[in-house]
Amino acid sequence: MPLTILDHPLAGHLLAGLRDKHTQPDQFRHQCRILTTLLVIEATKGLKTIMRDVETPLKATPQRVLDQSLAMVPVLRAGLGMLEPAVELFPEVAVGYIGLERNEGTAIARSYYCKLPDLTGKYTLCLDPMLATGGSASQALSLIKQAGAETSVMVCVVAAPEGVAKLEADHPGVRIVTGALDEGLNERKYIVPGLGDFGDRLYATP
Ligand code: URA
Repeated sequence: MPLTILDHPLAGHLLAGLRDKHTQPDQFRHQCRILTTLLVIEATKGLKTIMRDVETPLKATPQRVLDQSLAMVPVLRAGLGMLEPAVELFPEVAVGYIGLERNEGTAIARSYYCKLPDLTGKYTLCLDPMLATGGSASQALSLIKQAGAETSVMVCVVAAPEGVAKLEADHPGVRIVTGALDEGLNERKYIVPGLGDFGDRLYATP
């Protein structure tokens, strides 16, 4: 499966800030916004384009423009932190929401909300910052596929090898774009070294 780990000095710097336990929620949100911008730019490299003539003040010139509609699907609640910067880049995007809640005892995700637009033919980004066991990401990608998406890309801030392997097994061919691939999961299924609970850090709910 195509796995892309962002390789950019700014991405590394922002990720270091997100990982740092001393980073306060305002800074965490800011760093999340900028890093998501870099991730979404990378994740949309595969969008279809066409050549179209554009008139500059001097002459007509063929230019490459976007030719595929796009959708974003944040997985609630942590994925919401990635939505605004993604919409900023693509203001005309269709947005759907998937609510998945992880049982802290079993680490198994339960779906409690799903509102998706018709994704037929759309290039769809699934936004979920922490790809841990891959259980919720796999469920989200199945729902996105059922809604008709032509291409799905999983966009996360940190991934664990276990989550990557799960998506590889359940959704072969789906591209993953991540800020980092970490060591693995601990006994509570948190990513190590990771950054802790993304939603808690984003929304200041320790
Ligand atoms: N969700 C998080 O927020 N953090 C992890 O490490 C794993 C899942």
